[in-house]
Amino acid sequence: KEQMYEAIRAQPSVTRDGVPISIQLNCGLLIDLPHLKASGAEGIGLYRTEIPFMVRSTYPDVHAQTDLYSRILDQTDDKPVVFRTLDVGGDKMLPYIAASEGEENPALGWRAIRIGLDHPSLLRQQLRALLRASAGRPLSVMFPMIAEVAEFDAARRLLDLEINRLKGQGGEPPSRVRVGTMIEVPALLWQLPALLPRVDFLSVGSNDLTQYIFASDRGNPRTSGRYDPLSPAMMSLLRRLVEACGDAGVPVSICGEMAGRPLDAMALIGIGFRTLSMSPPSVGPVKTMLRSLDVAVLRQYMNGLYLRGDHSLRDKLRSFAKDHG
Ligand code: PEP
Ligand code: MG
Repeated sequence: KEQMYEAIRAQPSVTRDGVPISIQLNCGLLIDLPHLKASGAEGIGLYRTEIPFMVRSTYPDVHAQTDLYSRILDQTDDKPVVFRTLDVGGDKMLPYIAASEGEENPALGWRAIRIGLDHPSLLRQQLRALLRASAGRPLSVMFPMIAEVAEFDAARRLLDLEINRLKGQGGEPPSRVRVGTMIEVPALLWQLPALLPRVDFLSVGSNDLTQYIFASDRGNPRTSGRYDPLSPAMMSLLRRLVEACGDAGVPVSICGEMAGRPLDAMALIGIGFRTLSMSPPSVGPVKTMLRSLDVAVLRQYMNGLYLRGDHSLRDKLRSFAKDHG
């Protein structure tokens, strides 16, 4: 494994026609962090903070959280880390947060930022810990499951309260705070003119976005593979999102599982994504793929595909990949 990483790390993450692609990691535990150095990824595009919460039996207090987040930042050699605030609820309910009993539609239920906004003290404690851990260093915070701009504003206000509180106490603030949101609830796609001026970055959660776009449970084996993220619907909406972000000058990445599958990653680069965040084992295969990819040729090829009525563009993309090495 070490050897495999070594060969990959040495190669620049650039397509055959010279387009640089930033590869980032999805992480959730301290033991994931050595992969950052080993894989040569440029940063952590998604740190799922709920994972440490799920393995505990009580809610970690601000000190415990600060300690954890500091240790993460200490181990990342100044590479950027995007901390996503708690994304629990639905089927990921914590025993120490009183759950509404047995929701009928957990994926559509009381989860993620909805819990944070209903229990602002919980979210504020997490933000306080993130701010303290980042003293003198850059901090990037991302909110999960935002469905409307007003929710983003409300979450951001809690962050601002904590920044002011820290300053009032004479604490050292982060050197820079960047705030973004996941794009995983479709409604947000129709609020881009209001959203884009407010955010420092966006990241597409294609796992949940695919589930909500197709109304198709990502955890049910009968439905999870039924629709393809490489469908005309997903590809054209993602392409428009990337264009809107480009026009507004807002960096956009994608951190759903598709970003780590080489053929899917190829399509994402073809529609304009330049930052992909993936689990550590995907770095090698994706980098190998993109180093042999001619983006301009792929882009041209994909132009004709969106308006067709296919279930999936996968076969077409696979034959493109075969024909072009
Ligand atoms: C997603 O929804 O695509 C995502 C990255 O978040 P999670 O898988 O943690 O819901
Ligand atoms: Mg998600």
